[in-house]
Amino acid sequence: MEIKPFENKYASYLSDESHIVGHADFIAFPENESDLSEVFCFSSKNKMSVTVRGAGTGLSGGAIPNGGVIVSTEKIYGEPVIEKTDGGCVLSVRAGVTLRRVEEYLSRGEYRFAPNPTEKNATVGGLFVSNAMGLNVLQAGRVWEHIAYVRWVDREGKVRQAHAKTAVRELVGNIKNWGAAVDFGLKLTSKDGVFWGVVYFFNTEEAAKDFIGAVCARRKKSDFTRLTLAAFAYFNAETLKIISEIRSAVSALEALPQFPSRAGAAVYAELSGKDDAAVTEELYIHAELFEKCGGDASDTLAAYGEDGLRKFRDMCHATVEALNGAEKMRKRKCVFGYVGEDGDICEVK
Ligand SMILES: Cc1cc2nc3c(=O)[nH]c(=O)nc-3n(C[C@H](O)[C@H](O)[C@H](O)COP(=O)(O)OP(=O)(O)OC[C@H]3O[C@@H](n4cnc5c(N)ncnc54)[C@H](O)[C@@H]3O)c2cc1C
Repeated sequence: MEIKPFENKYASYLSDESHIVGHADFIAFPENESDLSEVFCFSSKNKMSVTVRGAGTGLSGGAIPNGGVIVSTEKIYGEPVIEKTDGGCVLSVRAGVTLRRVEEYLSRGEYRFAPNPTEKNATVGGLFVSNAMGLNVLQAGRVWEHIAYVRWVDREGKVRQAHAKTAVRELVGNIKNWGAAVDFGLKLTSKDGVFWGVVYFFNTEEAAKDFIGAVCARRKKSDFTRLTLAAFAYFNAETLKIISEIRSAVSALEALPQFPSRAGAAVYAELSGKDDAAVTEELYIHAELFEKCGGDASDTLAAYGEDGLRKFRDMCHATVEALNGAEKMRKRKCVFGYVGEDGDICEVK
């Protein structure tokens, strides 16, 4: 495998979605473990740093090189394969495969990969290293909880394999023991269940936050064994304005109904469970809490089933994309975030 001197035609590999721009001396496109060993031997012999790069969708600059060799995982690719194990179903997948490909592969079967980060171009390797989470973090948790095993090449060029916990300890955020992940076993979850999603619009940001507080308090007190609050997200007024401004230019937003004109904030809540009646009952309770916080039933958008909910999930993704896009957008006072256990808003930007 060729370790190529860096040239301008590879300029897009110097940056990621953090918009920081780095610099590099070499770039390599390994296809397998022995190619990776070769790059690591080269970098160590020449005392150079290595920056592994997935799809470059990271928001925190982890894939930005600071000289040395860029190692792209885009050729560490192959068809995913489902393995039935004693502990359940596992999808064996290579590190450079995108989340979009994983979801396409699983779309016709009975299993899903439960974490649902909205950026489908991200690679499995990048999702693992960032311990990514989706809108459904309250239900599904983060990526590390859904990894059965990882195979990686360590800095000395040795191939290692371990359960997720050990791999995290050895491979992620450890200056001494870095390497590159090549293969993953992703734990799969059954697709059973009912899904309902509602966007609640409020006149003020305070009212929306009161609703979030009321739903979180209820979630703590109640018996949530028959259903879960699968996704919970907050949009402030400026963010809703941006969605209205971009909707004609973003095809994923075509299916989204118009927002009420006086909307000053919104909350998206997704409920899921095996029991239809329990989910419906909870929807009514949320509707009461919404009205208590000053909401009006006509100021909601609702849908059910994974296909029906796609427009709301796409709205969340398009929001992150817009807020992280052009500099003038990034300067606007937008707040969009996933709501955590205690009602705290984890901003995504
Ligand atoms: C519009 C938008 C929406 C987003 N939505 C979400 C979201 O909902 N949830 C969320 O958590 N994040 C989200 N992100 C952030 C981003 O998509 C995730 O962090 C993703 O996990 C990065 O994957 P990547 O393949 O692009 O990795 P990169 O950005 O290329 O790399 C990320 C880090 O992983 C390392 N890395 C990558 N592959 C390997 C490997 N094989 N071995 C070792 N190290 C490796 C890199 O060195 C770097 O440190 C979003 C980003 C955008 C732009």
